[in-house]
Amino acid sequence: MSVKWNIIAPVRKPADLEGVAPGKLPEKLLKPVKGGGKLHWRAASAWDAMVEAAKIDGIELKPTSSGDTYRSYESQLMAFRQRYQKEPIAGASTRTFEGIKWYKKSPSLASLAAPGTSQHNSGLAVDIHTASEPKRLEWLIANVRKFGFSWEVVPEEPWHLRYTEGDNPPPAVVDYINANGGVSVPSAVVAPNPNAKQQAQTKPILVKDYNGRAVKEAQSLLTKHGFQSKPDGDFGLKTQAAVKAFQLSRGIDPSGDVDLLTWEALLS
Ligand SMILES: [Zn+2]
Repeated sequence: MSVKWNIIAPVRKPADLEGVAPGKLPEKLLKPVKGGGKLHWRAASAWDAMVEAAKIDGIELKPTSSGDTYRSYESQLMAFRQRYQKEPIAGASTRTFEGIKWYKKSPSLASLAAPGTSQHNSGLAVDIHTASEPKRLEWLIANVRKFGFSWEVVPEEPWHLRYTEGDNPPPAVVDYINANGGVSVPSAVVAPNPNAKQQAQTKPILVKDYNGRAVKEAQSLLTKHGFQSKPDGDFGLKTQAAVKAFQLSRGIDPSGDVDLLTWEALLS
């Protein structure tokens, strides 16, 4: 393959992966994705947004298999043992796992990260089916960064992408999320607030073109609920769109104003 590209960005992890052992993600952090398999919910929205954008351009994106999205520790271990052995093989490529060297059983087998060390174990990596097909690769090179993905090893692993943007999805993903009813943020992230009703009474009603601290608070709350909104304190068109999307998702009249009911839902 003669195509040259060099898109490798460092992975910023979503905050809720803090303290979660690789390959042991709780179900609530995982979401099924288009094409099969599961990813961390942040990566899942970004992936779905990218799949839809590719489709519009006539490019089909899907995971190589459902096992090439999130991999549990156990499934990574099973795959690793199929491809690597402890008994030395001269000239074989190696991996260190559990403090010892493992040898790849055959050069024709694809390399695999040791269990717990792959971004597949954090739900942030996905392998794309026939990624090196020229049109598909060309599309990916032009678009992955817009959706917060990058490669890890280029050009050797054109199929292996990781979501790198943590809790700050890029605008194209934000637009997709807001146009599709928001993401359901795991309850681990949003703790229920029994005082929402009372607190809502103390908030000013906000409409477009307002600015200030209350707008900033509403924007942060929208983001917390999965409707991305830059907390700049300016109630512009984008914030209004996020408010409407949020209202629709909660069965509130989508006026685009942050009224009492909307405050209550935001604070809940
Ligand atoms: Zn991979």
